[in-house]
Amino acid sequence: SNSGEIRLVDLTKKFGDTDAVKDINLTIPHGSYCCLLGPSGCGKTTILRMIAGHETPTSGEITIGDTSVVGLPPVQRGTAMMFQSYALFPHLSIRDNVAFYLKMRGVGKDERRKRADEMLERVQLAHLRDRMPAQLSGGQQQRVALARSLITNPRVLLLDEPLSALDEFLRLQMRVELKTLQAELGITFVHVTHTQPEAIALADMVVVMDTGRIDQAASAREIYNSPATPYVARFMGAQNVLTGAVEGIEDGIARLKSARGETFEIPRQNVTPAIGEEMSFSVRRDYIAIRKRSDIETEAAANAVFGTVDSIEYQGNFVKVSLQVPGMDTFVANVPDHDYFVEPIGPGDAVAAKWDKQHAHVLDRV
Ligand code: ADP
Ligand code: MG
Repeated sequence: SNSGEIRLVDLTKKFGDTDAVKDINLTIPHGSYCCLLGPSGCGKTTILRMIAGHETPTSGEITIGDTSVVGLPPVQRGTAMMFQSYALFPHLSIRDNVAFYLKMRGVGKDERRKRADEMLERVQLAHLRDRMPAQLSGGQQQRVALARSLITNPRVLLLDEPLSALDEFLRLQMRVELKTLQAELGITFVHVTHTQPEAIALADMVVVMDTGRIDQAASAREIYNSPATPYVARFMGAQNVLTGAVEGIEDGIARLKSARGETFEIPRQNVTPAIGEEMSFSVRRDYIAIRKRSDIETEAAANAVFGTVDSIEYQGNFVKVSLQVPGMDTFVANVPDHDYFVEPIGPGDAVAAKWDKQHAHVLDRV
């Protein structure tokens, strides 16, 4: 079939003693924009290369549509790949660059030209087809590389950090173009990135990876609002992760005591905690109120941490307040600008950071 659904089943890749990819299970729906997100070295490129057929799995299955592709050469997989360094052939015209993979496949000259011109039309570069790569800007070269990889009508396009060579302005522009192009073509895009904002802006499905494993695969909204693990919560950058031991359980609420002595209330959601058990939860930066410490009636108040202001950064619509809380790496609140000016605070001030218990999000057990 022509479906671009990708299924990875118990997929493993070892390089010597390194488990680059470890027992991964993932289904990427046909026609979706999927981002593999994780720090350098976590196995993202290795997964792409196995899907493309440039790397053989140590064990496991890869299916595209209803075809099992392990063992098939790259050209028979219906995939195309665009790399981080998208180097065009410097001695070929733009049109010949785009037609290159058709020539490799023995497609005749007239047909090659026709299809290359159509593809150049699609990326709005038809007027530049007779130029040489060196006569194009970085962004234009990027679009030519995209056209070149799409010319064989793949059902899956694999993109390895495709925007990392561009400056900030072009990167944001190309990001929109990629998303639009994917929606128009309706094929599956698998896009590797280590940049969280890039993944959540583009992806229907974000796959968060940590050293060869998948921590969570879900929609961008779900990953951002309901991270499954402390790792995902931290990686999404918008979360403060807190831990405590269960002290009491009431209707719908578990009461935790932290090592620092704070009391936290967390919704039980679908977990059944046991007394004494350690649990982690996260609180989004946007749901935290910062007040001078003297304003808090009692330090025993639940759902608050106490610390000192480390830094204040004006961000336009909000003010980013970073706190030093003993025993924590970071605690950050994004305070709406109008709220910030109700009671200005500065570095060194002792403050309380408070939230409503409904904004505590329970993470998988530590
Ligand atoms: P990412 O793309 O997420 O940065 P990679 O897939 O490139 O990660 O690499 C995952 C791990 O596998 C890393 O530890 C890397 O050093 C290792 N690795 C990748 N390719 C090879 C190779 N050809 N030989 C040996 N080790 C490799
Ligand atoms: Mg890589």
